[in-house]
Amino acid sequence: MIPRKFEYFAPRSIKEATSLLKKFGPDAKILAGGVSLIPVMKLRFGSPAKIIDINRIPGLEYIRASGGRLNIGALTRHAELERSKTVKDRVFLLSETASVIGDPQVRNMGTIGGSLSHSDPSGDWGAAIIALRGELTIQGPRKRRRMKVDDFLVDTFTSALQPDEILTEISVPIPPARSGGAYMKLERNLGDFATAAVAVQLTIDPKGVCTSAGIGLTAVGPKNLRAEKAENVLVGHPLTPKTLEEAAAAAAEDAQPIPDPLRGSAEYKKEMTRVYARRGIERAISRAKGGKK
Ligand SMILES: Cc1cc2nc3c(=O)[nH]c(=O)nc-3n(C[C@H](O)[C@H](O)[C@H](O)COP(=O)(O)OP(=O)(O)OC[C@H]3O[C@@H](n4cnc5c(N)ncnc54)[C@H](O)[C@@H]3O)c2cc1C
Repeated sequence: MIPRKFEYFAPRSIKEATSLLKKFGPDAKILAGGVSLIPVMKLRFGSPAKIIDINRIPGLEYIRASGGRLNIGALTRHAELERSKTVKDRVFLLSETASVIGDPQVRNMGTIGGSLSHSDPSGDWGAAIIALRGELTIQGPRKRRRMKVDDFLVDTFTSALQPDEILTEISVPIPPARSGGAYMKLERNLGDFATAAVAVQLTIDPKGVCTSAGIGLTAVGPKNLRAEKAENVLVGHPLTPKTLEEAAAAAAEDAQPIPDPLRGSAEYKKEMTRVYARRGIERAISRAKGGKK
């Protein structure tokens, strides 16, 4: 199928883009990578009358380490995050997450901002940014606001964005020494969306006690979820096999899957959350101790 007729705009600044969004209201949609929006339009699940292409706005595609944080422009492609040395060296979890998103075509076009704005519970970025306790910057016609990713992801395909707002930046703290992260994704075949996936970011002290833990879940709830019970099992405790088993079981409790005719029952997804949480925590610990990436 081909999309319904629409009017196309290519603003050159964020100000111009937000003015257009304000003028057209819910009739307008931002086009970033187009990887999700174009299929939606072709299948006519959605038919926005106005398309605001943000690809010609300079300064929305960047990766910058500054003031203890990694700041990422919303228009940064998955592929850029996968291969960036800054990302690999500073926040490896992001690089690993990018590497398992879709296929090379999806990674070359799709953007981190588009993915988070789309708020697909099967999207991989939400879980990784949750694990890293990331914050998002949102620009409206008049006001700029910043919020935790947990508040940004509201529900299935629903973010906290208002119709006249643009997500401009994703910011995560650069983890301190003795930190490690891992993204463990179960997929039916290479390039598929997750059946279940777990993002883990940990810091441990020299005695092996976990001093901070972030765990995000993919494809096991109405949105990407924080596995808060699992985080609480880890923080303040030595990372013994028993603690790891308890944390993995808690992650499965934190999951809220519904049966998925393509990718498995709710029970299966819960069990896979447990298994992948355990593996993710183990891999994150190994990396925190200087193990192989
Ligand atoms: C075959 C296939 C496989 C895929 N596999 C995976 C996968 O394994 N894991 C995964 O996570 N994703 C996967 N995706 C989705 C992919 O990651 C998309 O790139 C992403 O969901 C959307 O990013 P985009 O830049 O293309 O956004 P677009 O398609 O351009 O936009 C998506 C939505 O977000 C809005 N939007 C975009 N940017 C902004 C912004 N800056 N501010 C406000 N609103 C904005 C748009 O208006 C639209 O509603 C897959 C997609 C396809 C087609």
